[in-house]
Amino acid sequence: MSSSSTKDPSRSSIGSASSYLSNVSNFKIIESTLREGEQFANAFFTTEKKIEIAKALDEFGVEYLELTSPAASTQSYNDCKAIVGLGLKAKILTHVRCHMDDAKLAVQTGVDGLDVVIGTSSYLREFSHGKDMQYIIDTATEVINYVKSEGLEVRFSSEDSFRSDIVDLLNLYRAVDKLGVNRVGIADTVGCASPDQVAELVRTLRAIVSCDIECHFHNDTGCAIANAYAALQNGATHVDTSVLGIGERNGIPSLGGFIARMYAADKEYVKSKYNLHKLRDIENIVADAVGVSAGIHAKAILNNPSTYEILRPEDFGMTRYVAIGHRLTGWNAVKNRVEQLGLPLTDADCKQITNKIKNLADIRPLSLDDVDKLLRKYGQAKEDNSHHAILENIDTPDQITEW
Ligand SMILES: [Zn+2]
Repeated sequence: MSSSSTKDPSRSSIGSASSYLSNVSNFKIIESTLREGEQFANAFFTTEKKIEIAKALDEFGVEYLELTSPAASTQSYNDCKAIVGLGLKAKILTHVRCHMDDAKLAVQTGVDGLDVVIGTSSYLREFSHGKDMQYIIDTATEVINYVKSEGLEVRFSSEDSFRSDIVDLLNLYRAVDKLGVNRVGIADTVGCASPDQVAELVRTLRAIVSCDIECHFHNDTGCAIANAYAALQNGATHVDTSVLGIGERNGIPSLGGFIARMYAADKEYVKSKYNLHKLRDIENIVADAVGVSAGIHAKAILNNPSTYEILRPEDFGMTRYVAIGHRLTGWNAVKNRVEQLGLPLTDADCKQITNKIKNLADIRPLSLDDVDKLLRKYGQAKEDNSHHAILENIDTPDQITEW
């Protein structure tokens, strides 16, 4: 097709014909760093840290924040109330077992909605038609009617949806849909699902319920973001994420990775909804709190020139970074960095420095920090005309590192 050459290069021409089911350009994020993320092995969030994370995510623009059940501990209860008290734009949800005691406690905290999950995965897997099924539906009915009578949103989810009996699952969802839940949720609790399985289950569910569909995917087999995308393509409406993907085991879709996926699918929609410049900040806050390296995802993307046509660094509040500390560097790349640093150097200066960098990089590659130090020092030295001496006096990269 000749028209493909004029298309936005970030858009694949294959499969972009949106089906009538697709919500790729119409979805909501349920951000679960403060629930799923709290289950990450290294996570311990103080109340202050939770508030900092909640505010940052709200500024980013996620539609929902999901918090640990107030039934988990006294602190969890108090933290729920504290975050509700912030008056954020995002709706506040808490994740509770399908149990009246838990539901009542949750309602007391003032949250906007409850994400209700049926107790255990083995429960759903093992029950057969009849008594167990009826018991689950009865319990769900009581809890859902109560939450609705309090005027709150309610989502009803199973656990381990992909290993549950499909007929039982669909009967259960049909029943809670009739009770008027806002959303039903499917959860790949063990992280075993593949995108095609997700597509099939969501499409089937979409035909059976009229409420929204939320998805929760674990990343044990590396498919979490792909599964979330497949779910949206087939009619799901809400996706669970966590910052840096933290959660139980390998976690769930990372907010940054999921956003990158959706940005590649519909850049304007994503930019109109979310404050992408805030993303790096949020990743740093959470990385500090849990002791992992931040921005792995964003950096990996931005360091790889071949991805530039898909993600514009500027949209994420970052500048394009090309590695310039190696022997193959060109003076245009160095000049680009000089401009980013705002240094008043001429093209001739840049060419001289580039030659020096190439010589030094034959010993070992220079880090960006080292290159920046060299550029700044050269820039300063120009004031008293000692810049040539600067270059002449450097013989090894270590000398710069030690400055
Ligand atoms: Zn989970």
